[in-house]
Amino acid sequence: MENVAFIGIGSNVGDKIENCRRAITEIGQCKENHLVAQSSLYKTEPIGYTQQDWFINCVIEIKTSFTAYQLLNVLEDIEISMGRERILKWGPRIIDLDILFFNDEIIRCEGLTIPHPEVQDRAFVLIPLCEIAGDYVHPLLKKSIAQLVTDLGNGGGIEKV
Ligand code: ATP
Ligand code: CA
Ligand code: CA
Repeated sequence: MENVAFIGIGSNVGDKIENCRRAITEIGQCKENHLVAQSSLYKTEPIGYTQQDWFINCVIEIKTSFTAYQLLNVLEDIEISMGRERILKWGPRIIDLDILFFNDEIIRCEGLTIPHPEVQDRAFVLIPLCEIAGDYVHPLLKKSIAQLVTDLGNGGGIEKV
């Protein structure tokens, strides 16, 4: 399990807390993955398409023997098994699993961008990430997660559950 990945988790449909917990359990149940750390759960306001229910978000760190592409496939399988349907970009979802970082790799392919391009702009990602990886340095921006939280300024619309 030589790789380290950070995964952003979100849900705003149904039992949101239970959905996040189930996704974490399923990720950890793959023999290729080992759960290293888990942030608190946060209640957050929707961004983008704002006419929808609030979210529960958290971030986990795993060790994994998967490649980034394999991990993306596994996360998509978990999303589908939990009943996710793709209707509206940024719309309501039972579960959303995004790869935020994968080691220090920089990947820009159709279907996979790492680091996740929105990390630095989203309080609902940075604040939970900072709990478990404040010293991790963004491989493109060359700033720590703690620094990115400071740069973001107002972390409104997010509170610990
Ligand atoms: P956002 O990416 O802005 O958070 P989203 O999570 O709502 O938006 P989705 O509809 O869940 O977007 O995903 C669209 C596609 O993004 C997926 O099919 C996947 O191939 C692609 N993708 C690219 N980079 C990543 C990544 N780092 N993690 C997860 N999916 C990614
Ligand atoms: Ca997302
Ligand atoms: Ca996604």
